[in-house]
Amino acid sequence: MESKTIFQKLVDRELPSSVVWEDDSVFAFHDISKQAPVHVLIVPKKVIPRIAQASEQDALLLGQLLLTAQKVARQLGLEETGYRIVINNGADGGETVPHLHLHLLGGRPLSWPPVKNSSITSGLETSQ
Ligand code: AMP
Repeated sequence: MESKTIFQKLVDRELPSSVVWEDDSVFAFHDISKQAPVHVLIVPKKVIPRIAQASEQDALLLGQLLLTAQKVARQLGLEETGYRIVINNGADGGETVPHLHLHLLGGRPLSWPPVKNSSITSGLETSQ
């Protein structure tokens, strides 16, 4: 059997986390290395490694993840100022934990695009 992801261990309370939301399908907690004043991770209790591996059968669960992000944003006072929801998928996407998760970020203005560099569209930034 494959070993548990760190997020499964948080869901199973084998490791501590700062929980902000839990229901039958979804678990949300503060990121340990926050990139904004509010940085919450929202994960499905069912292990889907990444969005690329979600299926049609996961459609309801995927919607629940987004609606949980909406609820947590409201709960943490981000509704008026705004927020960003991010999913990192695979190596180029910056994924480090192979358990699908939404990042909910807010509490400061967030730049767009995430990296300002003339080589963004050429792809050079990953090969230098
Ligand atoms: P990603 O790079 O999209 O896979 O995001 C993984 C996120 O998990 C990172 O932002 C980490 O800071 C966060 N993280 C890793 N371990 C923990 C933990 N034990 N508790 C809370 N957040 C964590």
